[in-house]
Amino acid sequence: MKKPLTFTIKNRLDGSMARTGVIKTSHGKIETPAFIIGGTQATVKSLTPEQVASLGGQSVLVNAYHLMIRPGADVIELAGGIHRFMNWDKPIFSDSGGFQVFSLGMAYKKGIDVTSHSVKGDISQAVHTKSQLARVTDNGVHFRSHLDGSKLYMSPESSMDIQHAIGADIHMCFDELTSPLAEFDIIKSAMDRTHVWADRCLSRHNQLNNDHKARLQPLQALYGVVQGARSQDLRTASASFLGQRDFDGYGIGGVFEPEEISLTVKWVNDILPDDKPRHLLGMGAQPADLFLGVEYGVDTFDCVAPTRQARNGALFTYDGRINIKNSRYKNDLSPIDRQCDCYTCQNYTLAYVHHLLKCDEILGLSLASIHNERFVVRTVDSIRASVNDGSFFQYKKDFLERYYGIADAQKFLG
Ligand SMILES: [Zn+2]
Repeated sequence: MKKPLTFTIKNRLDGSMARTGVIKTSHGKIETPAFIIGGTQATVKSLTPEQVASLGGQSVLVNAYHLMIRPGADVIELAGGIHRFMNWDKPIFSDSGGFQVFSLGMAYKKGIDVTSHSVKGDISQAVHTKSQLARVTDNGVHFRSHLDGSKLYMSPESSMDIQHAIGADIHMCFDELTSPLAEFDIIKSAMDRTHVWADRCLSRHNQLNNDHKARLQPLQALYGVVQGARSQDLRTASASFLGQRDFDGYGIGGVFEPEEISLTVKWVNDILPDDKPRHLLGMGAQPADLFLGVEYGVDTFDCVAPTRQARNGALFTYDGRINIKNSRYKNDLSPIDRQCDCYTCQNYTLAYVHHLLKCDEILGLSLASIHNERFVVRTVDSIRASVNDGSFFQYKKDFLERYYGIADAQKFLG
């Protein structure tokens, strides 16, 4: 059967696991390493598809759980699939809803930071409670809608049905993400369940692709998702279990501190098949994450943080992150960053974007988002070029020392 996706490695960097390559899908190619732009609700918040393409976006990632609730996978199918529905004809990833098992489950109303994202988090919060909106069973997950409380159910099979109806190019297996602060037994049972579910997802996915083939429709790809939180034993067990299955690529799930990325990703990528693409799911938008991910063999990343932070006024510059709402920018007529080539920096001043965000003007959200997305996309593009020409380690050092300051950058430079 024709493959829904091919991955060709072009160059490797000596002394690291970094590689550059090309992922080909039926909606075009992605030059890797690549930053996949967050498009949760079938839109990149405040940007048109033309703007996303013009800032260098190669691909977007939508979320099957959110789209199942609104507008419903049937509406997207009726529109001819997600590419036509959102007017984006390049490759699209879809996430399964596994993250919502966590955010509406154990983490619900505790704040993600409390249970998951911080080693300083409160371990006593990393437990299941009666008030959470997601309840996990071996067969699937019962959700109550975060919008109106209505009852929803998602199983590995229904997640595949929904993702295939939505029609993205690359799907993720339905997994159970849990807090890295939870008891070992909870993390292990979530991982074991994720493995059983991965086999169920793959089986349903293959049936659905056979149906597409019979109807001469484009085939869709499926990534297995590695879990196991901060445990080396569980991460390596997960990578070897999934690595033996015939997935088109692999997602690396979980929630990470930037300092943890290199180790966790290395454990996993040492074991996963070298010739398949690897996607780091929902990482932070710290520049260090991008460098470390690539150094340890990640091919694609996704993150909603650049637009979310932009809407709050937190903007990237090569000298570190700034808050443009700060009064010091009120009459600063320079661009956000003199080295940035984005539409916003070419045409507008700090003072103007500051003014728009202070007045809650919609254009401010767009201009800030264009800048932040372009900053991240361009950084990953430059990292890719530096892997190709062998200058990666020098580029990483120069970039991170300037961005974080020489002292703070050291923890990422090892
Ligand atoms: Zn800019």
